[in-house]
Amino acid sequence: MDKGKKTAKEIIEEYDGPAVRIMEVCGTHTHEIFRLGIRKLLPKQVELISGPGCPVCVTPVSYIDEAVYLALEKNVTICTFGDLVRVPGTKKSLADARSEGGKIHIVYSPADAEKYAKEHPDEEVVFLSVGFETTTPAGCLSVKKAKEEGITNYSILIANKTMPQAYEALKESADIFLYPGHVNAITGTKLCEDLVKEGVSGVVAGFTAKELLTALAVALTRFQKGKPFFVNCYPRVVTEEGSKEAQKLVDMLMEPCDSEWRGLGIIPGSGLNLRPEWEMYDARKKYQIPVMEGRANPACRCGEVLQGKCKPSDCKVFGTVCIPQHPVGACMVSGEGACSAYYMYGRE
Ligand code: SF4
Repeated sequence: MDKGKKTAKEIIEEYDGPAVRIMEVCGTHTHEIFRLGIRKLLPKQVELISGPGCPVCVTPVSYIDEAVYLALEKNVTICTFGDLVRVPGTKKSLADARSEGGKIHIVYSPADAEKYAKEHPDEEVVFLSVGFETTTPAGCLSVKKAKEEGITNYSILIANKTMPQAYEALKESADIFLYPGHVNAITGTKLCEDLVKEGVSGVVAGFTAKELLTALAVALTRFQKGKPFFVNCYPRVVTEEGSKEAQKLVDMLMEPCDSEWRGLGIIPGSGLNLRPEWEMYDARKKYQIPVMEGRANPACRCGEVLQGKCKPSDCKVFGTVCIPQHPVGACMVSGEGACSAYYMYGRE
């Protein structure tokens, strides 16, 4: 290293610029920053706030109610990632539904769910399709494969969301976005560059200690210059155009729709739905699921946590009534949830 050149860690520790709020859009960033002890390096005027990038956390209560309805009223086998099973619905979680005889099958990918449907032709199988640009292509691929194989007992309950509209909705909440590298690997960086024209600053960050320290150091250095900026600090994975293949696949099967985000309400154009020619794989249409209102526990402040309006530790039931073993809200359940990160590492 050149003599006189500061390391990323030194730049962060010695930052003496104006107060700044940096939003970790992605729950994995929140967890990694805690786990690696990076928070302890930050001067007091640098505040890290959580954002809406945990797919399980932003999925609304009504979605859990829909899945419980399918399991208990329609005798459907629910295939899902494990995290969703313990998220409380209005009255029941999927774990409750399982204890009442509902068939809940944990899978690690939509491809597993499609395979399960193929191997169990006597069961109706629904995959709970949640997540952002990173996970949506795999869900689309499972539907495409089901069609190619003539599988008719498989469908997906869609709550997939897209990040650009969330950035728009949250642009007043933070001074800098720490953009999720895995999402940008799919979308590319154009949308982030466009946000600079609206005064929104951000850096794309990877997930190792070196990548996170570099991204934070770059963010703080650029912030002091006083102009909106965008820097891709994850160039080994993220390109300007993103993954054309994934974008093409999603575009072939899905179209934008309005979508409800826990805490943020309905954000126009922030969701995805299967196009009409694929709707036989849309569980909502296939099983004519009634509209669910969905009510969260009134004590839960997940909605505010997801907008960076309060810290998990500001919630009255954090760490007492609400703990990972007995979650009251989604942010305490998921491995990417801010409340779970604070409980495991911080409790500030
Ligand atoms: Fe919701 Fe629990 Fe977090 Fe409070 S601590 S906001 S109840 S998940």
